[in-house]
Amino acid sequence: MTPKRIAEILRQGNPDDRLTIQGWVRTKRELKGFSFMEVNDGSCLASLQVVLDREMPQYEQVLKSLNTGASVEVEGVLVASPAKGQRVELKAEKVVVYGEADENYPLQKKRHSFEFLRTIAHWRSRTNTLGAVFRVRNACSAAVHEFFQQRGFLWVHTPIITGNDCEGAGELLAVTSLDLQNVPRTKEQAVDYSQDFFGKPAYLTVSGQLEAEVMAMAFGNVYTFGPTFRAENSNTSRHLAEFWMIEPEMAFCDLEGNMDLAEQFLQFVFKSVLEKCPEDMEFFNKRINDTVLATADNIINNQFERVTYTEAIALLEKAPDKFEFPVEWGLDLQSEHERYLAEKLFKKPVIVTDYPLEIKAFYMRVGDDGKTVRAMDVLAPNIGEIIGGSQREERLDILENRMQSHGINPEELWWYLDLRRFGSVPHAGFGLGFERLVQFMTGMGNIRDVIPFPRAPLSLDF
Ligand code: ATP
Ligand code: MG
Ligand code: MG
Ligand code: MG
Repeated sequence: MTPKRIAEILRQGNPDDRLTIQGWVRTKRELKGFSFMEVNDGSCLASLQVVLDREMPQYEQVLKSLNTGASVEVEGVLVASPAKGQRVELKAEKVVVYGEADENYPLQKKRHSFEFLRTIAHWRSRTNTLGAVFRVRNACSAAVHEFFQQRGFLWVHTPIITGNDCEGAGELLAVTSLDLQNVPRTKEQAVDYSQDFFGKPAYLTVSGQLEAEVMAMAFGNVYTFGPTFRAENSNTSRHLAEFWMIEPEMAFCDLEGNMDLAEQFLQFVFKSVLEKCPEDMEFFNKRINDTVLATADNIINNQFERVTYTEAIALLEKAPDKFEFPVEWGLDLQSEHERYLAEKLFKKPVIVTDYPLEIKAFYMRVGDDGKTVRAMDVLAPNIGEIIGGSQREERLDILENRMQSHGINPEELWWYLDLRRFGSVPHAGFGLGFERLVQFMTGMGNIRDVIPFPRAPLSLDF
């Protein structure tokens, strides 16, 4: 019999349905004439209650091997459940235990901290919270593609190994072509970290933007959705060394079109995830952060606030809060400033535009005032910056000047400059950190708990 997923059974199973399930035991309770166990298969938050009758063949023996963590297949018949909160339960007729689990299995009844769970990342997907996170993450990924595909954007794959530092922030992880025959094996043998990629320096990409611009110059509207890497050597709850980024790039588009897209995008994704994972979202609201559902509602139903950087500085100067970092025109906004604007002042996402040219990347379009660039950051309550974007500099001479003042050798980006030589056009795009989005949506406090295998300083094995 083809096994059925528990989510489907709980949604539409009826008494007398004969079926098979497969999953992992969450709990077991032994009573006199019969026993209960809860089986979870990852398809939903809830587990299915299974009733094991003493009359069942090999009852005692089966029961002994059914400990928390064991993998099972159960064949039986659904019966109406007398218990509260569930319509049906499964009366077992045949139980196959694939793999037993002894008392060393770490996910016993006790609730563990997220910090501890990070040390057992190979098990944490079997907990309620991480299970819900990864289902929401999946729904969110699907919604990303749906949004762009519905609008005719082409999904393009930009390289992971690259020769450029798009952001110029110096957070590159280098790639080397180690000769495996001669890899140093002992501490005494020196490791030559200067080895490069077949004779040229190469890095893991920090952003696919520059290459996405190439593709936008042929297809109009494109997007990337792939892994990016940054050597973030600090312990924050918002930074990973490996994270996924969504980067739309649009030809014939200015900053206003870019802001509209960012707003529509976030609204679409929130709506879609609420529709696809209502139980998981309710769970986050109840157990993780009681503002999760209100935030989703706020995003879906309100326009985002839009202010210029200059206006934002004025608002921050007037703030009653004492900030750790200075507020001054010309300095970048820190996370505390971003959160003040989004959380306290406007109580919704805020798009800050037109940042001082000195603090932003070389490729952003210089504004008419000559002092600012047409940049935009979308700031979210509880998170701070969630999106960074801009209109790109499409004028060759100005771009060359900007590269010079950023110390970038134009020869290294000759192909990028070429885009401004042949058929240049106003264009714009943004980068959204996928994990920050999932974090924002679920209310999870640490970004390491929204990606299956977080990569951060001191966290490589798991
Ligand atoms: P921050 O100021 O938070 O370090 P950034 O300005 O360096 O971010 P951008 O270069 O603008 O980041 O990248 C675009 C988006 O990618 C950010 O708005 C954020 O959502 C996400 N992002 C950036 N760095 C990281 C990281 N280390 N881990 C997870 N997401 C990140
Ligand atoms: Mg950064
Ligand atoms: Mg930033
Ligand atoms: Mg940014």
